[in-house]
Amino acid sequence: MPDWITHIAVAYTLCALLGLKYKQFNTPNTVLVMIGAVIPDLVKVGMIFDYLGSGVWEYIWPLHLPIGSLIITTIMALLFKEKKSAFLFLLLGMVTHFGLDLLLENVGGGIILFYPFYWGGWQLNLVATDDYHITIISLVLALLAYLVSRRWGKNKQLNDLST
Ligand SMILES: [Zn+2]
Repeated sequence: MPDWITHIAVAYTLCALLGLKYKQFNTPNTVLVMIGAVIPDLVKVGMIFDYLGSGVWEYIWPLHLPIGSLIITTIMALLFKEKKSAFLFLLLGMVTHFGLDLLLENVGGGIILFYPFYWGGWQLNLVATDDYHITIISLVLALLAYLVSRRWGKNKQLNDLST
């Protein structure tokens, strides 16, 4: 699992770039995508319970499966007025999460993407789990995306004013 920072940075970068073309990727929706990007890692609350001395992994590990995350995403989307759009943005974030996780060498044998239909794990073995270069790269890319989107937004405002 790349850390939360990487997941959030990648989700942000994606939205900032998509925002250059599609106005739907505004700040509130970008935040939804960023939240969606960490939903699968809610499973990490298990560490807090470990610390407190009670194991809950058996109950919560399905959160880090697409099916478990999908259920959480759906429940979260129900809290919003625009349920369908909230769901889609959260879902996009969730997809980026599993996309990133797939790049990893998972000691556990990969992500069981198609549970309960298929129990095999998937992974691309491109990045070691403890490789922090990916975090740094993702932060640099997020910063660049931020600068580009700001610049673009300013130019667009000027264009809108002059027409
Ligand atoms: Zn993960």
